[in-house]
Amino acid sequence: MHIYNSNHYSSAMKQIINDCLHSAKENPFAIHYVIVDDPKYYEEIFLKHTDTIFNIELMTLSSFYQKLLQIYHQDFRKKTDIQNLLEIIKMNKEDTSSLFHLSANHVLTAKQILDIFKNFYLYNIQKTTKELPDLSKEKIKTLFNLYHQFDQTHFLEHDLIYSLIDEKCHNYYYFLTNQITIPKNQALIQKLDQYGHVFIYQDTKENEILDYTGYVTNHLFDSSHTKSDFEHPYQILKASTIQEEVKQIIFDINTLLKENALRDFVIYYPNDDYYRHLCRILDQFNLAYNRKETITNQAFQVVNMLLQYCLSKDETYLLDAISSLYLLNFQDHQYVSYLKNLYTLQGFIDDENYLVLKKAVLNIQGHDLSSYSLSLIDFIEHSFCKNELVYALLSSLKLEGTEPLSLKEYLSLLQEMFSKKTHSLKESYDSLYLLNYNQPYSELLQAKYVYCLGLNETIIPQEFKNTNLLLNQEALALKYPTTYDALNKHQNTLRHLFSCHHQKIILSYALRDLNGGDLVVSSIIQKLTKLFTIPTFKKHILIHPSLKEDYYLKGHQDDSLSVLNHHLLVYKQSHHQVLPMHINHQHNPLSASKLEVYNQCPYKYYLQYILKVDSINNSLIQSNEIGTLVHYVLEKNHHYFNNYQAKNFDSLKEDIHLSIQNYLKTHMLKKYALKKNQFFLKLIEDDLYNTIIVLAKQMQHGLFELSACEERVYDKIQDIELKGFIDRVDLYQNYLKVIDYKSSNKELNLELARLGFNMQMLIYLEMLSKNKNYDKGAVLYFNTKKRILKSEISILEKQDPENFFKLYKMDGYSVDDTYLEIDHEIEQESDIIKIKLKKDGSPYSNAKIISHDELDTLLQEITLHIQSLYQQMITGDIRIYPTRSDNPNIDMHINPCRFCHYKAICNYDIFYNEDHQIELGGQNEER
Ligand code: SF4
Repeated sequence: MHIYNSNHYSSAMKQIINDCLHSAKENPFAIHYVIVDDPKYYEEIFLKHTDTIFNIELMTLSSFYQKLLQIYHQDFRKKTDIQNLLEIIKMNKEDTSSLFHLSANHVLTAKQILDIFKNFYLYNIQKTTKELPDLSKEKIKTLFNLYHQFDQTHFLEHDLIYSLIDEKCHNYYYFLTNQITIPKNQALIQKLDQYGHVFIYQDTKENEILDYTGYVTNHLFDSSHTKSDFEHPYQILKASTIQEEVKQIIFDINTLLKENALRDFVIYYPNDDYYRHLCRILDQFNLAYNRKETITNQAFQVVNMLLQYCLSKDETYLLDAISSLYLLNFQDHQYVSYLKNLYTLQGFIDDENYLVLKKAVLNIQGHDLSSYSLSLIDFIEHSFCKNELVYALLSSLKLEGTEPLSLKEYLSLLQEMFSKKTHSLKESYDSLYLLNYNQPYSELLQAKYVYCLGLNETIIPQEFKNTNLLLNQEALALKYPTTYDALNKHQNTLRHLFSCHHQKIILSYALRDLNGGDLVVSSIIQKLTKLFTIPTFKKHILIHPSLKEDYYLKGHQDDSLSVLNHHLLVYKQSHHQVLPMHINHQHNPLSASKLEVYNQCPYKYYLQYILKVDSINNSLIQSNEIGTLVHYVLEKNHHYFNNYQAKNFDSLKEDIHLSIQNYLKTHMLKKYALKKNQFFLKLIEDDLYNTIIVLAKQMQHGLFELSACEERVYDKIQDIELKGFIDRVDLYQNYLKVIDYKSSNKELNLELARLGFNMQMLIYLEMLSKNKNYDKGAVLYFNTKKRILKSEISILEKQDPENFFKLYKMDGYSVDDTYLEIDHEIEQESDIIKIKLKKDGSPYSNAKIISHDELDTLLQEITLHIQSLYQQMITGDIRIYPTRSDNPNIDMHINPCRFCHYKAICNYDIFYNEDHQIELGGQNEER
């Protein structure tokens, strides 16, 4: 046996390839088998040294074994992994002494055990007498017990081949694969060597190559810190994110491409995330590269969702399954969207087809592999639209097995069978090489420029966790492969990669991953900077038409995209604005709230009141629905607070409950039946009890009496017809008090009212006093929201109910002295309205009182403002023009965009849209 022993992979491989080619030429009738891990790359490498490979056969180790069996006309039938798994599951379930008898998921446990069995065979693992903790001993004992019961005949391929090898195997065999260290393979190689010519590569000896590659391979993982003077091609690229890292190297390739071919470049990537990201950017640049294709069994994905639904009862799985359009009766996109909307809105779906499907899915039941398979096949036969994929799935689902399985285990078994499969495709034409870190072929492929991506700790070098079923301590005792072996192997592969010579090698790493998590520079880079002085990679300015989103964001333009450029020009010229409405829209009659919305933003008014665009709500009871219900209950129970007489509340709870039930009956919405909404309704019911007692108590303090609930008002100011509702109107002599029930803490700010905000109640008071010829007495807001009492007294003391009533103080203004009739018992401070009195009995200056004249002036200003808004409306002005203020204290109250449902539609653009800026008390420009 000839052993090429050097840790300098690339020079050793070149030597082997040259020797092999020479020998093949010298011995034209002897076949030269070259056993490698990546035949497709090695074929390319050989063809870089010769024009034809006539008597050289490149193959993987498993293909080589197949070849040997063919030579001896033997056929070795293996059991499938699924059959093996089922056998292990059965053993574990039947054997009550097995440590894995009560496993949470027998399929996943069986998978780990099967891997161990394979290694038991390949590494000739025997029982150990070494001292171990009791649990480890028990685990090993169980594994060997199971292994001996297990049908191993299908593993014995190596033994069969070993017995066959004789003088027929007189050819040349080059073993360049990593797998030659496995004892079963070693035995075969040694036997082959008795009859043929065997060449192997081992990397256990230090090299004597006097250049940067020799120095790195010898010292990459030792403790040496001596800086060398060797010239080297390394540069370090530190990127802020993986996205930037990938873009930098592709920009670099793009600039070098003028004088090079694509095959001159190799990119080493560490994982699938990097691979996907690389592909995305390479595709944008139209650069050819070797692709990986992932094959997903789509029909199985639908089955997967359905069974996930059976397990979790989470209907989103079922909705995803019907969205696949694989299921009969769910072939129409619009219908599927309708069902999804229904689910969002009311929290359940009562569509007949859907209910039939749901029932059928829940009927997929069984107790063992055979019965689950029959049940699932029956479901698919009746509920799937058939296509080739579905027929293929049906035939592979015909599984038999009598060992008991849970649905979860059955699903895990299917997931195992239909897991995604990845294939690599190498383009035959000029393309750049994307290699993972286990494919150190860059020098052999004669690449000039190499980019090593993802040199971050735990990515490269990888992290190996001691979490296998056999822990390291147990594996060491058994001479079974440990995570230390896996780490050694990984380090060797990295050494192989750093044995490659190139014109330029970029060592790159990022500071953030694709999700924004922190990353740390790799120990490989840290070590290389100790061995050499390495310059920093000169970064590119990442502007290129291929990366359109970046390019346009940075203000550039790709001239070939004429349609996009035209749209952008129109967008810029129009300042992202809408044209005025040309249809003659009839705005009358108007409500004050409509005017307020127009005042906030004309476009919002257009969407809300002209187009009537509604937002989609979820199935929770919404705040506006709660508001309507509260108004309803207060109206129905107004006799509890209609005058200043003391009331009896004995039947209040019952009355509230009945009012709510009546409301639900007349406003029947299916979602009200959902448990979460029932819970809310109960809370509202409890809350209303407090609210009504507070309202009664407030009335008791004053002289006003309730005159009307839900009072309608109407008036005409020049061309403008105004209408509206007032929640409650109270009357004392000739004075009107209007009250608005709010579900939040609302303040009446007169300065803002002057500018068209919160003017509604003031206008309604004016309209009502005009309609009925009464005097204006007060305009107040009552907040119905639940209050929580912050108490400073001990838990053992009883709270004074007065403290609770104070929390319900109303906001708003009293006109002149009406506050005395609203709170007839006021001493120093009112518990009902925001008014404090001085010692002499006169109100403080900050008391919320407005004089009759001030109110009239204010109302005149509001009227003028309304007229100007109306004039603007009828011109068709529907601009995206929100009213804002530079003063944050004001803006906080008026900013209409903050909670606007139409944000996604208007796409307000900070570069092109303007705001209607206002200032309190200042000269505000007309709209
Ligand atoms: S988000 Fe702002 S600008 Fe857009 S419609 Fe709403 S209020 Fe107007």
